[in-house]
Amino acid sequence: MSDLTKRICLLGGGFAGLYTALRLNELPWQNDSKTEIILVDQGDRFLFSPLLYELVTGEMQSWEIAPPFSELLANTSVQFRQQKVTGIDLNNREIKLENLESLNYDKLVISTGSKTSKETIKGGQKYGLTFRSLNDAYLLREKLRNLENSGQEKIRVAIIGGGYSGVEIACKLADRLGEKGRIRIIEKGAKILKQSPTFNQESAQKALEIRKIWLDFETEVTEITQDSISLLYKGEEDTIPVDLVIITVGNQISDLISDLPLTNNDKGQLKINDNLQVLDNRNIYAIGDVAEAKDETGKMLPPTAQTAIQQADYCAWNIWASLNKRPLLPFKYQPLGEMITLGKDNATLTGLGLEIEGIPGYLTRRLVYLYRLPTWEHKFKVALNWIINN
Ligand SMILES: Cc1cc2nc3c(=O)[nH]c(=O)nc-3n(C[C@H](O)[C@H](O)[C@H](O)COP(=O)(O)OP(=O)(O)OC[C@H]3O[C@@H](n4cnc5c(N)ncnc54)[C@H](O)[C@@H]3O)c2cc1C
Repeated sequence: MSDLTKRICLLGGGFAGLYTALRLNELPWQNDSKTEIILVDQGDRFLFSPLLYELVTGEMQSWEIAPPFSELLANTSVQFRQQKVTGIDLNNREIKLENLESLNYDKLVISTGSKTSKETIKGGQKYGLTFRSLNDAYLLREKLRNLENSGQEKIRVAIIGGGYSGVEIACKLADRLGEKGRIRIIEKGAKILKQSPTFNQESAQKALEIRKIWLDFETEVTEITQDSISLLYKGEEDTIPVDLVIITVGNQISDLISDLPLTNNDKGQLKINDNLQVLDNRNIYAIGDVAEAKDETGKMLPPTAQTAIQQADYCAWNIWASLNKRPLLPFKYQPLGEMITLGKDNATLTGLGLEIEGIPGYLTRRLVYLYRLPTWEHKFKVALNWIINN
């Protein structure tokens, strides 16, 4: 890198990091502000996680929801490094990679997301499954296949958490397993989807009832073993047999980020200012699940793809502006609503004055997500595949 070249490093190629890199690539860089954009991710593919459930039911294929970075970045000036980041040296502006290489940066975007912590539940680490990554989906499919082929009469699945992920995976599993499925959601609180609009809560409630999904409210999981789950309800413990346990609660930020000498909250998320910069260093931006995001009124935003995608636009602009002596823009969040898949060919959505469920909800969700997929080439390939196969 010449002394004049500025290097932007983006750590993590999820919604936050990849979409920032793609946006940075579109901005008009002048020769005198020559810039290198480097995206680092431990995996070789981007994952459009809102569509991960569709892999369990076979409604979509991996290539549609998880295109390789090499393909997405092929016609851009963004360089991709498939490496795990093992350290960040803030004093020397240096990123340490697993292969012992290091990368210097002028501007840094921290967008490494979050993970599901299995350790908080006894036996969770050993016997609980998570549902966040492509490998999680593959492992779940393999376990389901084995159970389906075992000849056993019932397949009992316990899902911990009655939030979006818990409800969505429960409905997809119920549709896949049919009569054989015995599915229960275990929720610490008194209702499902507690942050959702009433319309979505009611549609979800109906979808769960139709699929005979059992709901355990105000119940805590005390232990998971190879073939059982122990539940605590109003002081009484009950142990029931299960074949699979899926943990959807317990978002955690990696130690790599929460141990940095940067201001963070009690969840380990980095605190950021209105321009999306970390509080302690104007050259470092933090976006997506890894950061504590707020709207203009100071209200906390949930860690969603919607927040990450919107932040990516501002983050790219602010980095460009800071290197081109232009004013930075404070982040303004636009609430676009919420969509929840409720089994095959069924979804609910509330937003922009609309409330839609059933097949129209399913079609709208599909189209919105098609539009949200990264790059026009990928959108086009997926759209063509849907047209040919439907
Ligand atoms: C099953 C599921 C369904 C969801 N559905 C919805 C939905 O319907 N709507 C919605 O708005 N949101 C949804 N979300 C939430 C949404 O996916 C996240 O909020 C979003 O992915 C956050 O984007 P991010 O870029 O911060 O993190 P991620 O998308 O998780 O990306 C982080 C990236 O960082 C990489 N990384 C992490 N650590 C390292 C390291 N040390 N070195 C190198 N690379 C690293 C990872 O490999 C990953 O690619 C869903 C999440 C899940 C799991």
